[in-house]
Formats: sequence, C-alpha cells, structure tokens
Amino acid sequence: MSNQQLLRQGVAAIARDLAAKKVSSRELTDDYLAAIEASDLNAYISVDADGARAAADKADADRLTGSPAHLLGVPIAHKDIFCTANTATTCASRMLEGFVPPYSATVVERLQAAGVVSLGKANMDEFAMGSSNENSAYGAAKNPWDTTRAPGGSSGGSAALVAAGLAAAATGTDTGGSIRQPAAFCGVSGIKPTYGRVSRWGMIAFASSLDQGGVLAPSVEDCAWLLSAMAGFDAKDSTSADVPALPDFAEEGLPPLRDGLRIGLPREYLTGIQGTVMATAFDEARRLLESAGAEFVDVSLTNTAAAIPAYYVISGAEASTNLSRYDGVRFGHRASDAIDLADLYCRSRSEGFGAEVKRRILTGTYALSVGYYDAYYVKAQKIRRLIQEDFLKAFEGVDLIMAPTTPGPAFRLGELSQDPVAMYQQDVFTVPASLAGLPAMSIPCGFDAGLPLGLQFIGPHFDEASVLSAGHAFQQRTDFHQQLPGATP
Ligand code: GLN
Repeated sequence: MSNQQLLRQGVAAIARDLAAKKVSSRELTDDYLAAIEASDLNAYISVDADGARAAADKADADRLTGSPAHLLGVPIAHKDIFCTANTATTCASRMLEGFVPPYSATVVERLQAAGVVSLGKANMDEFAMGSSNENSAYGAAKNPWDTTRAPGGSSGGSAALVAAGLAAAATGTDTGGSIRQPAAFCGVSGIKPTYGRVSRWGMIAFASSLDQGGVLAPSVEDCAWLLSAMAGFDAKDSTSADVPALPDFAEEGLPPLRDGLRIGLPREYLTGIQGTVMATAFDEARRLLESAGAEFVDVSLTNTAAAIPAYYVISGAEASTNLSRYDGVRFGHRASDAIDLADLYCRSRSEGFGAEVKRRILTGTYALSVGYYDAYYVKAQKIRRLIQEDFLKAFEGVDLIMAPTTPGPAFRLGELSQDPVAMYQQDVFTVPASLAGLPAMSIPCGFDAGLPLGLQFIGPHFDEASVLSAGHAFQQRTDFHQQLPGATP
C-alpha cells in the first residue's frame, strides 16, 4: 500500500490498524505531518505539530493500559471555525488574527475525550460565507483533483485535506451546504446532521438558526463513527436537541439498507440537471440502489426555487447581528490611530472583514431595517416554513430523498468570484435541507472529466441513521469513494 493510500484509508480502517497495533498513533501522526509539510494545497491555516505529537504519544500510552476507545489515536483536523483552547482560531478572517480561545468547542472537547489527535485547523471561507474557499483571508485551498479548481466552500480546506490524505477526517460546518458541496467537489463523504444534533457551543456563529457542525471523511462509515462521538445534547447550546442519542456506530456498525426502503426523487431538482453527466451518474446510482432493494417514488418540493433568495435573506440577517460583536472594543481586530469611537468601529470593521462578509452584513442589515423588515425578512421566514412543509409532506410517503449535491463538478478558482449571484446558485440543491433543518449527506457517485460528483441523501429530522445506512449501502457496492486524486503531494 502506498503512503498516500495508507493515509487515505479512512477513520475506521486506521482505527482498526491502531487497535491491531500494526501502526502507532505517533507514527501515523508523523506521517500526516510530513504529508502536510510537503503539500501545496493550502488546506490548513495552522498546524499544531507539537500538540499533535503529544496527543498521539498520550493515545499510544492509553492503548498500552487497555483503553477501549474506538477513535483512540486517530489524527483529524478541525475546521478553523471551532474554538480550540490555547491554539489560534481565525475563522479565516483578519478580524480574528491572533485570537487564542480560552476554551474548546463542545465538538472539539468530545472528540478529544474520544481520543482523537488534532493535527491543526482547516482552511475555510471567512466566517463560513462562500462556496469556493476564495473568501479566506489566507488564500483559497486548492482542489486536489485539479489544483486550478475550487475545493468548494466553506469547509473547502476540510474537504481538500481529507481527499489528499492530510488527515484521516475533518470536522466541518454547514449553514447552507458548506459540508456537502465541498465533499462533492473533492470526492469525499460529508454529513450535515439535523439542526440541534451537534452542539454549536464554541463554533463561531454565522447564521445561528442554520449553522450545524458535522464531519467529512473518506467513507460514510468513517463519518458515522465520528458523528457518534461528537453529537449529543449540550446544555451550553440553547438550540441543542434533547433527543435520544445516536447509536455508537463504531460499536454497533451501520444499519443495513432496509428492504423496500422508499426513496423520493424530487422533480424540481432533477429538471435542473437534465442532460448532464451528473444526470447519468444519478440514474446509475438509482438503478444500483433499486437492485439493492430500494423503491423509488417521484416527489415534489414545490417551493425549491424560492430557497436561495430566502436563505440569503435569512442568513445575511443573522450574520449582520452575529457579526456586530466584532467592534474592535469587545471583540476582534482593533484599528490603530482612530480619531474617536465611531472612527474606531468603522476602521476596525473595514480593515478586519473581507469583501464578501461586508456584502452579507450590508444586505442583512438592509433586510432587517425598518420599512424593509416585512418585505424581506418576514417574507423569507414564511418561505422557509413552506419549504419545511414541502419536505414534511414528502416524508409522509418516503423514508429518504435522493438528489444531486451540486449541479456539476468543481468550477475553476476565479470562475465565479466576480459574480456573487452565480456563486450563490451553487447552493441550489443544498440550501433547502438547511432551511428545513434536516440531516443530509453527500457521497461520491461518479466523475465528470476526472472531477468527482456528489450524490445527496436527505432524511427526516433526527433520522441520520437512515441517511448513513443508504450511503453505506451505496459505498459497499461502489468504489468511487476509494478513488484517489492524482494531484496530491
Ligand atoms: N455557500 C453558502 C454561503 O455562502 C453556504 C455556506 C455555509 O454553509 N456555511 O452562505
């Protein structure tokens, strides 16, 4: 097995090798650190080599004393939106340059408690706003399948580094598609759980009613193992859902595809890809799952076309309030030589935020302003409700919905950066599930001219198990998720 294959073999396989003492966490960690050092993908914002080695040594020592933790010693990366105690957390913004949180996000703490080793912090779009990683203050991460292409966004660094074997897996966040779209573009698996399933404590806020933490990894099984460890009720997040916990998938395995599982095909999504390579890959995926025992039914999600405008009004409005805390006084970059307080606010925010973040703050503030509130914000909330009702109605007749993740493969870096509306359209198939708060996952399902394509499963609220089971069934019958990009270090 080549070094790249070993590092890309996934969380479950690596955990099994560690348990069988075929390799130590320290050896793996050193191999990943060397691969990161040699890589020019710009997938990491910061690497904590010393911290990673110390954690790996501790994991190896714990194994000697018989620790049964499944994830013990598995090296992963965290999206740089998650606070990590005593290590820099930038959210890819100049605004947070030099910020070292005094505490860790619940997600980080839970994974640490499960024994994972953190290698460093993954690149992303600034404050998670974007679909290409080009909005990072640290420059875009590159897509390992073709370094002239975008890795997707906002969790683009997470997706790129998983695809290239620069960590066994990575955390991500998804507000309107930020786990699923980069997973699709980079040929990896990624799940956004139900809103409320994973704690938002210590996850820097973009749009609080939509933000949800999740994970990207080579396979569905890998995602399931990590999700079990990071999910669960957290009293520190007021929207955390106090529902029965997910099974420990590492312990119990993934449920097999239920015979006669009914999968809905949303008409409004499929008309959007007619005649494309994505459509052919989608049909093949459908046939394959049919032969595995699934039944397909047409469904209609009638308000789909209104999802993008509603999402950009709601997420912008929430961003404008969330980001008001970065005033240079209480939080964030402080401009020097301001002449008075108003000037200090103005200069600090002008210098600290990038262009896309400013655009969102301006449009969001506008949508919330007196005179426009009803026309934009209230209207968008009504549309959000209609979209949620579309899904709830569809789930009366089907167990899952299957759709493309994106209309096509990764676009070129620079291709859409001057056209924000075209960039926003990238989220057409991912935003509706976000607005409805549903669990959704993207898995590799084929290639278009050598670039990966993503297949999406959307499930009813808190039914991550069905989403994962369908994805896993697909991966047991295909090897798209095992293909390795050529352009890796
Ligand atoms: N691309 C979307 C946006 O720019 C989604 C971002 C996300 O999910 N964080 O808002």
